[in-house]
Amino acid sequence: MTATAFRPFESLEFDNLFVRSHAADPGRANVPRQVPGAAFSHVSPTPTRAPALLAWSDPLGALLGIARPPLGEGPVAEVLGGSRVLPGMQPYAARYGGHQFGQWAGQLGDGRAITLGEILDTTGQRQELQLKGAGRTPYSRHADGRAVLRSSVREFLCSEAMHHLGIPTTRALSLVATGDGVVRDMFYDGNPQTEPGAVVCRVAPSFVRFGNFEIFAAENEATNLRTLADWVIRHHYPELGEPGPATYAAWFKEISRRTAVMVAHWMRVGFVHGVMNTDNMSILGLTIDYGPYGWLEDFDLGWTPNTTDAQGRRYCYGQQAQIAYWNLTRLAGALSELVGDDDALRAGLETYRVTFGDSWSQMLADKLGITDRGGDDEDGLITDLFGLLQQTETDMTIFFRSLTAVPLGAGVSAAEQIAPLRDAFYDPAALDGPHGGAMADWLARYAARVREDGDAAAGRIARMNAANPKYVLRNWIAQQAIDAASTGDTSQIERLLDVLRKPYDEQPEHADLFARRPDWARSKPGCSALSCSS
Ligand code: AMP
Ligand code: MG
Repeated sequence: MTATAFRPFESLEFDNLFVRSHAADPGRANVPRQVPGAAFSHVSPTPTRAPALLAWSDPLGALLGIARPPLGEGPVAEVLGGSRVLPGMQPYAARYGGHQFGQWAGQLGDGRAITLGEILDTTGQRQELQLKGAGRTPYSRHADGRAVLRSSVREFLCSEAMHHLGIPTTRALSLVATGDGVVRDMFYDGNPQTEPGAVVCRVAPSFVRFGNFEIFAAENEATNLRTLADWVIRHHYPELGEPGPATYAAWFKEISRRTAVMVAHWMRVGFVHGVMNTDNMSILGLTIDYGPYGWLEDFDLGWTPNTTDAQGRRYCYGQQAQIAYWNLTRLAGALSELVGDDDALRAGLETYRVTFGDSWSQMLADKLGITDRGGDDEDGLITDLFGLLQQTETDMTIFFRSLTAVPLGAGVSAAEQIAPLRDAFYDPAALDGPHGGAMADWLARYAARVREDGDAAAGRIARMNAANPKYVLRNWIAQQAIDAASTGDTSQIERLLDVLRKPYDEQPEHADLFARRPDWARSKPGCSALSCSS
């Protein structure tokens, strides 16, 4: 696309299909309340003191055809910070419910997210522009409707990182500092602090969640449920045909399939969402609501970044596939009357199971550069590797990325095979003991398998490098960017945006970001554990 095709933000044309198509809350009072019978409430963002644009995603701006606005204060920062509503925008907060940590939580809704409107991007795809942290809505319950800078930087960077990793996700266009203070008790220990506030403008074809359907089913709002289902199918799954019983079943199957592929990708790159409540599950199969997420550094199936989940570990890395299935069963429950055929819904859930199994198996084969044998792992190569990676702290990203350098010849020594992997070990001395022996045995079996498969090295290595990112948004790296941004220095955000646009490329000039978590980051807040306080 040429630069001349870029439009200034102020000239965007809005076409607000969601508000046109669904039941509006007749009330206009912006106070927390139950909103029976409605899919959304009209509500304007609350102006902030001094909105200033801190960061902008050029790739997303290009997709939307929007010219990059100047950083700092200005008319675009006012819009993206929630202080000004442009003609054509019809801001609203959506009503949804959800199961939180396994329990039905009733009405939740957009408590701090406000959609400004919908536009068509340069490919003709509909995109919703939504501010997160834009102030109170009828769904804010006891909270303030705001977001702090640290969580906004995390959502902004991770959305874009995930997209460039090839993982279905909502996107993020801009990060605006509001100039207002936001009070948060980050550790829930009775020591609230004032932190800088921020607003992210996030972008997706739709932000509808499983929970939008659950609330209608729970409250017996059958017309709203059907209207929303028909709308999602017509506008976001048009390939399935006109809504009707068979189409609803096919739709649930496709949601299940997409969800399975998404979670398999999370597992592939070591992403842990952290709060897989049903209100945080996208009906389009997108990664949504970046809160206390984290990236596996040392490989541990039981790891969760979310301190609220430290006891139960419901949402830890290794549980994500089961939890997505459980969430889909909740969605199936909500759609049950509509579909009218529980066997069809069960078939959809089975599609999830099979798709996840096949996708994860294929992705693991790609990560290892071996032929996929259908997931049964009959010789235990993968099970044994996972066991080994957990026995001593081993950096997931470095381990897998470095596997391409392991010499595979029948005669090479164990020491030669382990050498390229040494950087992955937090305590390299562990390799001198029994663990080194077990690792050497595994590597010998691995090398034999690769030789047996007989794939040409060039193709195999390209396949591995496309499955094993070199750069992910390590928790401590994000935290450094946050610390700098808190002092007004956004250069690290810029650098990360740039590096994470090409996460599978070597980029040797950024090799300091391909590194184990430093010792200082072990116990620093934000680097290994995160609270939901955002
Ligand atoms: P989350 O766990 O962040 O997905 O949030 C769960 C629910 O709480 C959603 O309905 C959010 O909109 C709402 N929520 C979270 N934080 C805030 C906040 N600071 N102000 C208002 N509502 C919030
Ligand atoms: Mg949420």
